[in-house]
Amino acid sequence: MDDSSPQEGGFWSSLVGIFKNKNGHTLEDAIREALRDGELTSHDVPMLLGVLRLQRLYVHELMVPRTDIVCCEVSAGLDEVCRLIVEEGHSRIPIFEGDKDSIIGIIHSKDLLGVLLTPPEKRPEIREVMRPPLFIPENKNVRDMLHEFLKRRQHLAIAVDEYGGTSGLITLEDVIEEIVGDIEDEHDVDEPDEIQELPDGSHLVSGRLELEELNERFLVNLISDQVETIGGYLCELTGRVPKQGETFTLQGLRLTVKEADKKQIRWLHLKTASPGMAQDALAADPSKAKPGE
Ligand code: ADP
Repeated sequence: MDDSSPQEGGFWSSLVGIFKNKNGHTLEDAIREALRDGELTSHDVPMLLGVLRLQRLYVHELMVPRTDIVCCEVSAGLDEVCRLIVEEGHSRIPIFEGDKDSIIGIIHSKDLLGVLLTPPEKRPEIREVMRPPLFIPENKNVRDMLHEFLKRRQHLAIAVDEYGGTSGLITLEDVIEEIVGDIEDEHDVDEPDEIQELPDGSHLVSGRLELEELNERFLVNLISDQVETIGGYLCELTGRVPKQGETFTLQGLRLTVKEADKKQIRWLHLKTASPGMAQDALAADPSKAKPGE
């Protein structure tokens, strides 16, 4: 579904057309060429390419997954919402009824300031303070998502899967970061790097590390139609969440689960394995030789 107006769509295609016709190259090529010719600076180019990338990205690739949404049950009360805002540092808190599949509103921290001015006996309920949520399909194109944020004057949307269940949350900042890079605000806390080199040359990698990044960094080619992260990949491979201490050898990489809970792998130890080691691991458990081997 393309929500952009006909004029916007027309403008976009004529822009692409102008550059294509001019020299037979894509718009991306033209931008890179302009950098070489000194017409654009190295600061401009990643942003321009970022804008063009938006049309090839989908909401599910940028969203915060369902499990990480900081949200509150409607019956919990406004004090709990305030606690979440203070402790988690997010200014908008989705409100659900029953479970996360029934998000019924969003509370914005600014709307709570008015509550502070209300005498305690007249304090409103969560339902009276929350605003209606914006729902969008998780497979929405990010360029359309940006138009929707602007058109609806909203900065946060709840992504839903094909069955209407909540699959994640995306904000305007997630989209803008694709263009300008990471934006850190006053309340952001430092996250540990997803790939950390250890003194012996091996690595600690997050279970959330994207396969694409792992492939690029460690020169392997792990591919899946179902999942995007290395943690998800190992779960797909085994059909369960692997436990701490389990080891997998894939395309010469030896991956040992360092930290996992019932639902996900948090950290893995990664070592470049010798060919002999790979054979040992496969002989011990043939299931480890599945996708990508
Ligand atoms: P905030 O500064 O209030 O966190 P931003 O729109 O600047 O809001 O978002 C910063 C990051 O936090 C984004 O990646 C966004 O997806 C994420 N985020 C925003 N609100 C929540 C929330 N309630 N739960 C989980 N992640 C959130």
